[in-house]
This record gives sequence, structure tokens and C-alpha cells, in this order.
Amino acid sequence: MKVKHWLTIIGVLLLLGFLLFSSIFLFDDKKSISEDNRLMILTTILPLQEFTAFVGGDEVSVSSLLPAGVEIHHFEPRPNDLKNLQEADLFIYGGEILEPGVAKIINSLQSETLKVLDASQFSLLLTDNQEHTHDGEGASHEGELKAVDPHFWLDFENDQKIVRAISDYLSLLDSEHASLYNQRATEYQEKLKALDDAYRASLENCQSREFIYGGHSAFAYLAKRYNLNYLAAQGLSPDAEPGAQTLILLSQQVKAQSNPYIFYEEWESSKVAETIASESGAKLKALNSGHNLSPAQKEAGITFLEIMENNLSNLRQGLNCQ
Ligand SMILES: [Zn+2]
Repeated sequence: MKVKHWLTIIGVLLLLGFLLFSSIFLFDDKKSISEDNRLMILTTILPLQEFTAFVGGDEVSVSSLLPAGVEIHHFEPRPNDLKNLQEADLFIYGGEILEPGVAKIINSLQSETLKVLDASQFSLLLTDNQEHTHDGEGASHEGELKAVDPHFWLDFENDQKIVRAISDYLSLLDSEHASLYNQRATEYQEKLKALDDAYRASLENCQSREFIYGGHSAFAYLAKRYNLNYLAAQGLSPDAEPGAQTLILLSQQVKAQSNPYIFYEEWESSKVAETIASESGAKLKALNSGHNLSPAQKEAGITFLEIMENNLSNLRQGLNCQ
């Protein structure tokens, strides 16, 4: 009896010691995200980072391959990203048209555990209808892909579908927290629905229904959803300088408006918009297509929803809405 008694005490002490040790270990040591029990999720662009962080909450670890201030269209993952991708549970990105460099890596990656969610699959892909952006492109598959506007997140209904898909993926991988993911997804969908309603109501009665944009062609989804037209100085990716013909055309379009505004691409060069503005006498307003944050915006904790609200306020002024 006595021996048994002592054995029980020793057993309990050992168990307490182990629990104490493991709790110190868990709280003291900054372990790499793959080593704790949470799902490890990697993303790229700002909206996908934010949707995932909101839906996943403290139950998951979310990080982005895309550093602040880096442009996504030509982004190439670094060797360390490959290592993280191989260890991750889920990768959520914007698909091969937006992120060709990332897609190539994903297709060649050999990971038995990594699930991939291509967020572009929930969008009806819109083609860019601006002829001046397609100089020299034939009807090849690559040419067709280049003509698709990859900025699907600028339709807030698409975003609601993406948020639901993120919740579904998380729930499959971690069924224990499924009801939490589901609840948070519903909450975020409501925020997006409210944003969509605000856009629709605010852009209903405007003197102009066309906006001229000095940046790359990113707003086909937004324009279609709220029954607006727009003209962009550059093509679908922010790398080509607009030609003289394009500048003249945009300048003429601006001049045709009363109280004209021209929009420039926030944290890209506003040179093109400034040139057209000085030529046409238009005023300048910023628009931000929300691919990523600048380092200063990241530091300040600016969110995707705030950027979209700011765009709405600038669009309202620029289109002279009531
Ligand atoms: Zn873009």
C-alpha cells in the first residue's frame, strides 16, 4: 500500500513538473509558426491577408510572402518563402494571372501537406476593354490571359465568396474551430456587404459616370459593379509607360467633363496624372487598388476596408456625386 502511495505521489509530481516545464517552454520560447499547434497559413496580397487574419483569428498563424511596399504583378518568391511554403498548411493567393511568378513556384512545389486556395476562382473574370493596352498582343493563350483584369478583389461580392471559402478551408483543416471560423466569416461578410451598399448608394447620383485614372488598369470590377466607366493610362500591370496617343486621348476625355478630376495611383508615381492634370486643368485625387500596403501604411495599421472607404470618398468628389 505504502509503495503504491509513494508511486502515485511521484507520478503526480512528475506530471506537474512536466506541465510546468511545457508551459514555460510554450510561453517563453518564440517558436517558429510551424512548430506550434495552430494552422500555418501563407498569403500574398493585402485583402487575402486581412480576410484570412480575421476569419482565422488567434486560432491560426497568418503571414504574407509579399513584403510591404512590394508590387505583386512581378513578385518572385525568395528561397526562404519556398521553405515556409513547404511547411505551411494552406497557401491563399490571387492566381496565375495576378501572380505568375508565384504560380510557377506553386506548380513546381512538392509538398504533401500544402493546400492551395486560388482566390481568383470565385470571380467572373473580366477582360480589360481598353484597346490601347493591347498593342502588339495577338490572340494567343498568353495574350488572352494578359487581357484579363486580375484585380478581382475590387468587387466586394467576390470578396464575400472568398471569405466564405477561407472559412470552409480552415474548417476542413481544423474542424475543432469550425464554428468560430464560420461565425467570423459571417461577420466579415457583413462588413463587405455594408461597404458594397455604401458604394452603391453613394455613387448613384453623380454628374459624371466616367473616371480617368493615371495608373495601371485595375478597376474593371469596381466600375462594372457600380455602373461606371473608366479609362486608365497604363495596361493591366504597372510596368509600361503610356504612349503619347493615350495621354492625348485621356486629356481630351478629362477636358470634356465639367469640374474634371483625374485620379492617380496612390504610392506609385503620380507623374502621368499630373501631366494630364496640368494639360487639362483637372484636379487630382488618389485611388488605391489595395494590392499591398506601403511600409508607412503598414506601420500605421491601415486596413483594406479603410483604403476602400477612402477610395469611395475620393470617387464621390471626383465624379461630383450628390
Ligand atoms: Zn495591379
